[in-house]
Amino acid sequence: MKLHEYQAKELFKRFGIPVPDGRVARSGDEAVEAARELNGPPWVVKAQVHAGGRGKGGGVKVVKSIQEVKKAAAAVLGTPLVTKQTGPEGRKVHQVLVEEGVQIDREFYLAVVIDRAQAMPVMIFSQAGGMDIEEVAASTPELVLKQFVDPGTGWMPYQARTLAYGVDPLPGSDPLKDLTALMGKLYTAFVSLDCSLAEINPLVITRQGKVMAVDAKINIDDNALTRQKELRALDDPKEKDSLDVKAEEYNLNYIRLGGNIGAMVNGAGLAMATMDVIKLAGAEPANFLDVGGGASEEMVTRGLEIILEDKNVKAILINIFGGILRCDVLARGVLAAAQKTAIKVPLIVRLEGTNVEEGRKILKESKLKFMVAKDMAEAAAMVTEQVKK
Ligand code: ADP
Ligand code: MG
Repeated sequence: MKLHEYQAKELFKRFGIPVPDGRVARSGDEAVEAARELNGPPWVVKAQVHAGGRGKGGGVKVVKSIQEVKKAAAAVLGTPLVTKQTGPEGRKVHQVLVEEGVQIDREFYLAVVIDRAQAMPVMIFSQAGGMDIEEVAASTPELVLKQFVDPGTGWMPYQARTLAYGVDPLPGSDPLKDLTALMGKLYTAFVSLDCSLAEINPLVITRQGKVMAVDAKINIDDNALTRQKELRALDDPKEKDSLDVKAEEYNLNYIRLGGNIGAMVNGAGLAMATMDVIKLAGAEPANFLDVGGGASEEMVTRGLEIILEDKNVKAILINIFGGILRCDVLARGVLAAAQKTAIKVPLIVRLEGTNVEEGRKILKESKLKFMVAKDMAEAAAMVTEQVKK
């Protein structure tokens, strides 16, 4: 689960990480009100969307008057912001963060993420802050410093010194102390909030010598949300694909992909294999959809509805191995979805397993038009032929 910058900054404050003073606004007038309560000029008006690269995309504006605050907020609110991370369609801005402008002397990059290969968190620090860290890592890898954190011992003060003393030129002794302390606070926040990512880019030293998180990005591990009830409330469904929201609501494992074959499968392994055979047959899947090994009729219905709502889908493949999810339950779920939304694209069904005869009978006796494949390879070939026509 991703958080907005303003939400991440609120959380950072609780862990003692300094951030610029700021207020959220949903209109030009609210932005003006916010600016009046803050130190300035200058003020900074920042579009709140779940994507980085806003600075370069025109989503972060430094302004010098109250009128400009209003103008800057009105310019981005209600319109899609396009950045390197949003895709060409952009993301609609529903709110802005109005902040006091800080005078930046130096910009650093600081983040904690999980390193899967090492199976532990890693703190990443770089003096090349404010820039795309992937680019820094590719062109000047020596500027990206890392410290792995043993979860047993936690973050050690010597590790903070190792990172901080790795920058050139060395900051003054006060900012250096604040910098090392802040690393420990970020690690504590990362663990306490069950983050998969906690990133500050840029982490700045101001001209007054203050260390401050000027940007903030937090992703929460979805699997921890059961015990992070407070964080769950920070979820913003407006930021998500409407089909993703629907899939989440019904506990379906759904990922939208670039192709045009909608596939509904039970079990993640079978779903992966189905995507593979579709590709092998020369076509591209429009989605990954695992309704789950023990899906109910309603989940099958919702799953198919999600596929039918995707305008890119030109043919559908239902590949079910009946186990706990019996084939008759699947058939009823498919019919229920077809009743609500007419299926206008070719439908190929491959059914095997528990109650397969009954499932086939239900489908055959319905008015639904569909083709039956006897195995996976044939199913993939048939569905590919339909989209190639
Ligand atoms: P993004 O990463 O999406 O581009 P940032 O929050 O990092 O957005 O902002 C981009 C740049 O704008 C920062 O690198 C910083 O130079 C400047 N900036 C952002 N907020 C402030 C602020 N409160 N005061 C001064 N400069 C800021
Ligand atoms: Mg940034």
